[in-house]
Amino acid sequence: MRPMTLADPFGLKVTGLRIAITSRCNLSCLYCHHEGEDTSLPGRREISDDEIANVIWAGADLGVKRIKLTGGEPLMRADLESILERLPETLEISLTTNGTLLAERARSLAEAGLDRVNVSLDSLDPRVYSRITGGTEADHCRVLEGIDAAIEAGLVPVKVNMVVLKENEGEVWDMVDYARDRGVILQLIELLDLQGRGIGGDLSRIEEELEGRAERIVTRDMHRRRKYFVGGAEVEVVRPIDNTEFCANCSRLRVTSDGKLKPCLLRNDNLVD
Ligand code: SAM
Repeated sequence: MRPMTLADPFGLKVTGLRIAITSRCNLSCLYCHHEGEDTSLPGRREISDDEIANVIWAGADLGVKRIKLTGGEPLMRADLESILERLPETLEISLTTNGTLLAERARSLAEAGLDRVNVSLDSLDPRVYSRITGGTEADHCRVLEGIDAAIEAGLVPVKVNMVVLKENEGEVWDMVDYARDRGVILQLIELLDLQGRGIGGDLSRIEEELEGRAERIVTRDMHRRRKYFVGGAEVEVVRPIDNTEFCANCSRLRVTSDGKLKPCLLRNDNLVD
C-alpha cells in the first residue's frame, strides 16, 4: 500500500506547516498582515499546546518535513520550549520572531529542539525601526542582541527578514553588509500591501542591482525563491505578489492561531476546523 501523504488535487505534496501559535504581539508593525487572520473578532481562542503538538505529529505522519512557528509574536508564549520538547525529532523546526524576546531564550529554545530562526529586522537605524514597528530604541537593541544570541546558541541558519518599504529601501546594502558580517542570511520580502497605501519599496530595482553584483544566483524549489551570493553575503528574495510560480510551487499548509487549517495566506473562505 502506498503511504498516505497530504497532496493537493494537482499532486503537489504538502511538506511544510506554518503554524501561528498566538495572535498576541508586543509590536505593532505598520504593514503587518497578521498571517492573513482576522484577529479582531472578540472571544477568539488561542490554539493549545496539545493541539499544536497533535497537528504537528499528524502532519509528520502524512509527510510533513518542515514546521514554521509564527504569530503574532510566538515568544509571547511561555510554553514554547515545552511544546518544542514534544515534537518529532525528525522534523525541521523553525521560528519566525520579531526578536525582542529572543536574547534570553535562544539557548533554551535550541536545547528544546528548535533548529533555525528568522528574525524580523526592518532597519539598522533605531528611529526608522521605531517608526516601522512601534517598538522602542531599547527593543531595537534587544533584537540585535537576539540575533547574536541565536547565532551563539547554534541555530542554523539565522535569517534576517526585512520587508522592503519606501521607508527602509535605502538601507538594503547596509543590511547586506550586516548579514555578511554576522554570517546570517538576509531575506528581502516584498510587501503585501493589504491596505493599498503604496508604502512598498522598489524590489525590482533592488533585484536588478543584486543580479548585477552577484557572483552566483540560485533558485530554490520552495516558491521558486531566488538566492543571490554577493561578496560573501547570502540574500534571498521573497516575491509572492502576482507571482503564479510562487503559488504553483507552494508546498505548505497553514494553521491559524485559533486552530484552523488554512491553505493560503490570502484566503479566508476555505478554513477547516
Ligand atoms: N512576530 C513575528 C515576526 O515579526 O517575525 C512573526 C509574525 S510576522 C506576521 C511573520 C513575518 O511576516 C515577518 O517576517 C514579517 O516581516 C512578515 N510580514 C508581516 N506583514 C507583512 C506584509 N504585509 N508583507 C510582507 N511580509 C509581511
